Amino acid sequence: MQGGFAGASADRGHLLRAAPAPTFPQRGREPVRRTRIVIAGAGIAGLAAARALRLRGIDDFVVLDLEDQPGGNSRATEVGGIACPLGAHYLPVPGDAAHDVQDLLEELGLRRRVAGRWTYDERHLVHSPQERLYFDGHWQDGLLPLEGVRASTLAQYRRFAQAVEALRQTGTFTIPRGTNVHAALDALTFSAWLGQQGLDDAHLRWFLDYCCRDDYGMGIATVSAWAGLHYFAARHGFLPEAEGSDGEREGTLTWPEGNGWLARALAAPLEQRFVRGRAVLRIEETRDGVAVDALDVATQQVERWQASHCIVALPVFVAARVVAEAPDFLKQRAQRMRYAPWVVVNLHLREPPRDSGHGAQLAWDNVVYGGAGLGYVVATHQRLDPRPGPTVLSWYIAPGEAARIEVLAKPWQHWRDAALKELSGPHPDIVHNLSQVQVARYGHAMAVPVPGAGNARPPSSQRLSFAHSDWAGYSVFEEAFTMGHAAGRALSPRA
Ligand SMILES: Cc1cc2nc3c(=O)[nH]c(=O)nc-3n(C[C@H](O)[C@H](O)[C@H](O)COP(=O)(O)OP(=O)(O)OC[C@H]3O[C@@H](n4cnc5c(N)ncnc54)[C@H](O)[C@@H]3O)c2cc1C
Repeated sequence: MQGGFAGASADRGHLLRAAPAPTFPQRGREPVRRTRIVIAGAGIAGLAAARALRLRGIDDFVVLDLEDQPGGNSRATEVGGIACPLGAHYLPVPGDAAHDVQDLLEELGLRRRVAGRWTYDERHLVHSPQERLYFDGHWQDGLLPLEGVRASTLAQYRRFAQAVEALRQTGTFTIPRGTNVHAALDALTFSAWLGQQGLDDAHLRWFLDYCCRDDYGMGIATVSAWAGLHYFAARHGFLPEAEGSDGEREGTLTWPEGNGWLARALAAPLEQRFVRGRAVLRIEETRDGVAVDALDVATQQVERWQASHCIVALPVFVAARVVAEAPDFLKQRAQRMRYAPWVVVNLHLREPPRDSGHGAQLAWDNVVYGGAGLGYVVATHQRLDPRPGPTVLSWYIAPGEAARIEVLAKPWQHWRDAALKELSGPHPDIVHNLSQVQVARYGHAMAVPVPGAGNARPPSSQRLSFAHSDWAGYSVFEEAFTMGHAAGRALSPRA
């Protein structure tokens, strides 16, 4: 069986550690290139900034990224000829606050107005069945444990749904999150808040913990009550399966390669303005502009980009390291950040996995109750061809901050085995059915919305502006995109 690591390279990521920016040995001997605007980082925020520049008629810019493929955490790959995600895999149909995302989806032909109503391209809305849970030895529909649970559990579901609904009605829980401050909810952990409400049911707590690990990389004992509630109050409410919620599930957009589809669409117009394999080492405001030093990882040469403005679309901990004489707001934000590591295991199977026992059929998102992982999505779920064939399961795990070293140190087989351990109960054939494995590791995958993290709107200067989902305090496409777009839109079309 073939296997190995794919995706973001830890060696490239650690170039900064090896060569601290201010004392980089080759400084002063770099070839100089000129452009009007440098965007540092080609994640969703950087790509959104590039789109905003394009829409403003500005094309004198470059986007530099450490990796060879744009997209950051939203990159894609292929295993055994089947496209699959390396990281982010879905985008909920955007709500009213996500204007820029709505606009993008219109540009890409995914959203249009039909008979006075907004509709989304059915080919990319997740087909039914959407989700299922391996609970108590068999698969049930939906992710909330429902089958066979006690009346007292259902009563707690109902109470939680009501609490969420009350918050939803305030209209202050939105994505992107805006400037609303929920100081009281941001001051304590979600687990402490649940305790205060007397919500102690084991199934409810498992479900909420799962949702937080899935969205934020850490569970209810770590994330703030704001984050735990925002997950529901900013979207569909508590799941409609639970009585007491009037929330209807909105659609979810996905692609075989996950949000890699969106990243590719955003990067396509860039052509040679996307400069791959450049580790930004230093960003320095100068008398007449800004100088960006980047290491070409292929040639190991440092090159200097001279520009009049730089949009720093890098994770905050990287930005604090590379921006010379980092401003206080940046240093303070970096000190407050906590990051969750993630691992994504793409398992190529010769045929769809066989289920143990009866129950709900294979869904797009499949989760094992009580599992260490976060379940898997099926890359071929959106295919219209009903004939069973090879597929890829993308299995996710957020092993916690304490496991960061382990995430880098363990061989790929460790993560394959972790996936197989979790999935061989529900799918007894999986080991024999497996033909290839690709593992993607992220040491600092996403900002964890811990109590007190809040969000920040970084000020921009004539020379520098900042855009990255880290500033929102949690990591989703809508936050990264909206922030990047705002940074690009703020620049004047005049040279
Ligand atoms: C495993 C995983 C699953 C996820 N699933 C979802 C999902 O399903 N839906 C969703 O909405 N969100 C998901 N997310 C969140 C995801 O992080 C955001 O959707 C979004 O992609 C973040 O974009 P960004 O631009 O803010 O950051 P990033 O993706 O972090 O982009 C930063 C970019 O900067 C580059 N960079 C870093 N250092 C340097 C340097 N020194 N020089 C040059 N370049 C550098 C990086 O290579 C990267 O391209 C997931 C994240 C992970 C890790």
